[in-house]
Amino acid sequence: MPATRYVLAVDQGTTSTRAVLLDAKLNVRGVGQQEFTQHFPKPGLVEHDLQEIWDTTERCIARALKQANAKGSQVAAIGITNQRETTGLWTAAGKPLHRAIVWQDRRTSDLCHELKARGEEARVRRTTGLVLDPYFSGTKLKWLLDHVKDARRRAAQGELRFGTIDTWLVFKMTGGAVHVTDATNASRTLLMNLETLAWDDAMLSMLDVPRAVLPRIAGSAELYGVTRGMKSLPDGVPVSGIAGDQQAALFGQACFDPGESKCTYGTGAFLLMNVGTRPVQSKAGLLSTVAWRLGDTTTYALEGSAFIAGAAVQWLRDGLGLIKKASDVEALAKTVKSSGAVVFVPALAGLGAPHWRPDARGLFAGIDRSTTKGHLARAVLEGVAFQIQDLAEAMKLDSGRAIPAFKVDGGAAKNDLLMQFQADVLGTNVVRPKNVETTALGAAFLGGLGVGFWKSPDDIRRAWKADKVFKPKLSAEERAHHLGKWRDAVKRA
Ligand code: ADP
Repeated sequence: MPATRYVLAVDQGTTSTRAVLLDAKLNVRGVGQQEFTQHFPKPGLVEHDLQEIWDTTERCIARALKQANAKGSQVAAIGITNQRETTGLWTAAGKPLHRAIVWQDRRTSDLCHELKARGEEARVRRTTGLVLDPYFSGTKLKWLLDHVKDARRRAAQGELRFGTIDTWLVFKMTGGAVHVTDATNASRTLLMNLETLAWDDAMLSMLDVPRAVLPRIAGSAELYGVTRGMKSLPDGVPVSGIAGDQQAALFGQACFDPGESKCTYGTGAFLLMNVGTRPVQSKAGLLSTVAWRLGDTTTYALEGSAFIAGAAVQWLRDGLGLIKKASDVEALAKTVKSSGAVVFVPALAGLGAPHWRPDARGLFAGIDRSTTKGHLARAVLEGVAFQIQDLAEAMKLDSGRAIPAFKVDGGAAKNDLLMQFQADVLGTNVVRPKNVETTALGAAFLGGLGVGFWKSPDDIRRAWKADKVFKPKLSAEERAHHLGKWRDAVKRA
């Protein structure tokens, strides 16, 4: 009997690295996970040690193989998904010049303000689909080139390699032979032209970035190279899939048709909508980004995020002490039939798209003497859903499309009450999949597609199974009443 063949997904996240081994039927056969150090050198600065990230990757792969009782030679392909925007710079020999600057890091705020003051924002938006914010990689790379001793001179001489985490992992996996990124990660750098998918001269000159440090921009599923000199895998294993974490989740949720959307409810929430094969410029301050590139076809997405989602539940737990653990919020919210007149605006860290009011603050409205902690809990869950509804509404307007499928994942998507209310305010079915490992699944699919282990996304569509469908239950009037209450409260926040 031939040995089972597996696809390995490496999911390199902000707080931990995971390796997930899947068989051809997409069953998870082995998992390795490890946290790593968060460095906070000063308030507002966040860094990761690239070598430590690589070491955890090797260890997680070894653990996943061991758990599945599999040999490295049984791995048919590797797909990578990663925390996006986090920026590294290393030598041709693979020696990091500095710790990686993490997406959360705000050290380039002043630079972003300067560029805005120079009137660059409109051009940045048109060219890259992004906004001038320290979040993205480009200004972080400029900072490294400006602040690390000799970096500029060495970069100009072709001695240095820039990369996001996907690029770092492929570089290490292939023994330094391959310097590549995929179009989804490149679309988060501020350096790539969203239409041509090439590095853009005007953006490079705006940020003073020499071409010599940049990786090749590749598709999301193709053979980038093979392993060489790894501890956890033999030489010759194909590395063949890459996508940023949110894009991998969109793929893993099988959102292949325009309009199909997924929302990940973690600490914050990320909503992405497939908008088809042309980028859509947002009028509401959403980001325009690459969803994936397969062969010659690029699929684009609109992206909106809410800073606070599950974090509002954490606040009920840690700030107010109303619950012991996050999952208790559902039972507490169910002690009342409705939130009554109570509305919660979860602007605990300002309001993002489509409001863009960093100065807004959280708000409970409509409290009277009959209000109980059950009402508060219920209003908090509803507030999370209202925010997502605002994003979805903006996406529908920008894209001119309805949302045929709204798929959910992440820790807070386990909450049935929240998902039901989400369906109610959206007026759309909300679908939660059986396999909630959507990010790893997306990466594995891409890796497998890259070597023909799976033939087409249809294989994924067939394998994707719903766990529960939440159907909207509110009448049009009730829905309008809820949305009216929410809009009033947002104005006050
Ligand atoms: P992240 O990847 O951002 O760390 P997770 O996907 O692990 O987030 O989800 C954790 C978040 O989900 C926490 O903010 C937590 O408060 C919230 N959460 C977990 N379980 C529930 C639940 N049953 N109902 C509502 N929120 C929940």
